[in-house]
Amino acid sequence: MKLLLQFPEGLKQFALKHARKLESEGHEVYISATPNFGACDLAIDEAKALGADKLMHFGHAEFSKVDFPVEYLFYPIDAPLEIIESAIKALGKYNTIGLVTTVQHIHQLEQVKGEFEKLGKTVLIGKPYGFAKHQGQILGCDIGSSATLDRKVDCHVYFGGGLFHPLGALYNTTKPFFAIDPFINKFLFLDGYREEHKKRERGKIMRSIEAKRFGILVSTKNGQTNLNLAKVLKRKIELYGCEAAILVANTFDFDYLNNLMEFDAFVNTACPRLTTDDNERLRKPLLSANNVMELLAMREGPKIAQKSQN
Ligand code: SF4
Repeated sequence: MKLLLQFPEGLKQFALKHARKLESEGHEVYISATPNFGACDLAIDEAKALGADKLMHFGHAEFSKVDFPVEYLFYPIDAPLEIIESAIKALGKYNTIGLVTTVQHIHQLEQVKGEFEKLGKTVLIGKPYGFAKHQGQILGCDIGSSATLDRKVDCHVYFGGGLFHPLGALYNTTKPFFAIDPFINKFLFLDGYREEHKKRERGKIMRSIEAKRFGILVSTKNGQTNLNLAKVLKRKIELYGCEAAILVANTFDFDYLNNLMEFDAFVNTACPRLTTDDNERLRKPLLSANNVMELLAMREGPKIAQKSQN
């Protein structure tokens, strides 16, 4: 079989090992070197261009149905558990805990839960909204496993590496949020990020207050395309007497987006985390659909009657 292998950035270090194994089994093997952000971002165009029989996507579960054969390969990682006991003790007065992790550690969730229970804590495991597939799992764009428990818990605890996943959940919950990072042996209190996020959101809206020309970002990635939302936003913006155009790319590179200087603000319909993270390089504000609705609500009512648009 002709195979294209695709790995998220954290697993690319193991790509050659897998390619060798598959080649030794008689397959013709290629490795995608394009950046990968999730199963929302399958290298289907590359696979088709190669005439591959199948795309083998490592590290993520299926995100959305696609018109190409894809095999998803679960990539569990055993995180060390030494830090758990001291972290649980540091939780002190918080007794009912909402526990979440990423797909890589989902197989350890019951064990981690057991450690909390041994020290007298009650642990609740929530349900994702849909993009994530396992109870207690969070994705950058599916924080349901935390959000659905927010009213029932005293605090939330994320178990796993890095801040990308817990920050998405933090922004969408209200209770104290902790992270146990077993890879750097740290127990972190994250609530300060929530305040910063709120300030940034408010700042973006204020910077867009006079904006007249909006560029609406639509990604062609399999799990990120939202053309309908973009069209609705375009119509809505135009109703308020502003101009809007839909900008299309697979991956939005902010350095290049900066060349579209006619726009006063951009509106994101692709990965929701583009709006909240890592957009400092963009010179103009990058708004979410909700930000746009908030912004328009602050302006005088629609300048063009709805009827005249039909
Ligand atoms: S957070 Fe963004 S990159 Fe991650 S799975 Fe969701 S859409 Fe894809």
